Amino acid sequence: MPVFDVNLYNRPVTCSKCGGIMIFKGVGEYQCEDCKNMEYDDYGKVRNYIEKNRGATAAEIEHEIGVSQRAIRQMLRDSKIEISEGSKSFMKCEICGGDIRSGRFCSKCETTYHRQLEEEQRRQHALNIGKGFGKNTNVEATGEKRFRREEL
Ligand SMILES: [Zn+2]
Ligand SMILES: [Zn+2]
Repeated sequence: MPVFDVNLYNRPVTCSKCGGIMIFKGVGEYQCEDCKNMEYDDYGKVRNYIEKNRGATAAEIEHEIGVSQRAIRQMLRDSKIEISEGSKSFMKCEICGGDIRSGRFCSKCETTYHRQLEEEQRRQHALNIGKGFGKNTNVEATGEKRFRREEL
């Protein structure tokens, strides 16, 4: 299904200048196969705007290029775009409300969040051992988790 969702981020389908077919060029860019006119989907527009206007806020972007703040936040959440260093941040950590540039949590809360997940996994693991369930499969799972923890 997602393959057919061609209108994601308002992808340009036909050229606004000659009506030709827009060919995908990468990262939100499309080029008309007839007149070579370049057009951008919402993602491409936001990226271009942020590159030229470091420190732009979501409200400003919405006003200037007409991409909704909701769509911009979605792009940030998907880590498709990142707000530049030293800019007025408009993303908030979902846990502490601190300023962030992409994703959902600040690095501090992200660490805490993972620690809590790990605690929960440890608790589940202990419970399973207590019950005598899945002793063999858990050996593998623990090894994998330990490896991931060291990567962080
Ligand atoms: Zn064209
Ligand atoms: Zn936080």
